[in-house]
Amino acid sequence: MYKFAEALESIKEKGLYREMLYLDAAPGPHTMVGGKQMLLLSSNNYLGLCNDDRLKEAAIATIREFGVGSGGSRLTTGSYRLHRELEERLAQFKGTEACLVFSTGYAANLGTIAGLADKGWVIFCDRLNHASIIDGCRLSGAKLVIYKHCDMNDLEKKIKRYHTGKGLIVSDGVFSMDGDIAPLAEIVKLAKKYSIMTMVDDAHATGVLGPNGGGSVDYFGLQNEVDIQMGTLSKAFAGEGGYIAGKQSLIDYLRHKAKSFIYSTALAPHNIAVSLKALELIQKEPERRKSLLEKSRWFRGELVKNGFDVPMNNTPIIPLMVGEADKAVTFSRMLYDEGVYVPAIRPPTVPNGSSRLRFSIMATHTHEDLAMALQKTIVIGKELGLI
Ligand code: PMP
Repeated sequence: MYKFAEALESIKEKGLYREMLYLDAAPGPHTMVGGKQMLLLSSNNYLGLCNDDRLKEAAIATIREFGVGSGGSRLTTGSYRLHRELEERLAQFKGTEACLVFSTGYAANLGTIAGLADKGWVIFCDRLNHASIIDGCRLSGAKLVIYKHCDMNDLEKKIKRYHTGKGLIVSDGVFSMDGDIAPLAEIVKLAKKYSIMTMVDDAHATGVLGPNGGGSVDYFGLQNEVDIQMGTLSKAFAGEGGYIAGKQSLIDYLRHKAKSFIYSTALAPHNIAVSLKALELIQKEPERRKSLLEKSRWFRGELVKNGFDVPMNNTPIIPLMVGEADKAVTFSRMLYDEGVYVPAIRPPTVPNGSSRLRFSIMATHTHEDLAMALQKTIVIGKELGLI
């Protein structure tokens, strides 16, 4: 028999045991976590739309009209006109011919990569890509070639060595645990040079980066160059779901091949209504992302000025590097005791020795919120000998 208790002991000894804290209120800047009033500084609710009245009204009105569940998978009885409308609008937003909505971003990555590639393919994958991408690659049966994080020399070297016929380069647009932006223009150039398809996971960039909020692909103006644009509806969009945007033929193919699309219940209509309203607000209210990026720049800059090890770039994901898992957990607990909620990120989510606090900013944080968190972070950082 497998000894779960012993395995858990060993996880604990390594400082990698995970507790779960429970929120008792909406994930706004000020919320309740574990019964305690907290400043939330680690949510993916980037634009602060999770508790927006207009999104809530859209959900409530749709529940009144359509009920609470879709009652079927997308290819049977679970597709509503709202799904079609969202897919059409997302495709316009992403500058592509078509789009397909999945029940989560994880399902979108998993089903798309596994549906598209097989044993005859080689997939070139950034070392820090999201777990759902890696899982999709493994499930596909394709040869998985990992290249060094954002290292185009390593990517080209590996393309030369392994590329034979059908290939895919896949990268996060903004890396979820590091907050850096992938060199998409260079990736696209290499892909063209060697006739390889490209896929970008824009979970963290959509609604946040780019002149139209379209994500990292919009940021670099590469709408017509990237073959597969993946996104989630659970971060800036404030709801649930994931999607793939690309050519009509790709989307039609995925409808037939992506098992996580075919064999899973469709998102309920009210989830779709929330995403439609969020998309409208993302397009109508660019000041939200502008304010988000300004606040992120300020907070990151102050951490750096005060001597913390924080990589420089301009996204709302701000990792404060700690190193040892135990120390990162201690830092997180001490901040929690001071009323600031920022979980520690440890292996296997990040490589060994690179445990960190992962701050993420929301457009709805005030300057006072961030200044308060900064002061507390500095005091604890000194106590722990990090600065
Ligand atoms: N890709 C990336 C880069 C992510 O960070 C996440 C979520 N953390 C996902 C995909 C999965 O999206 P979802 O949460 O909608 O399943």
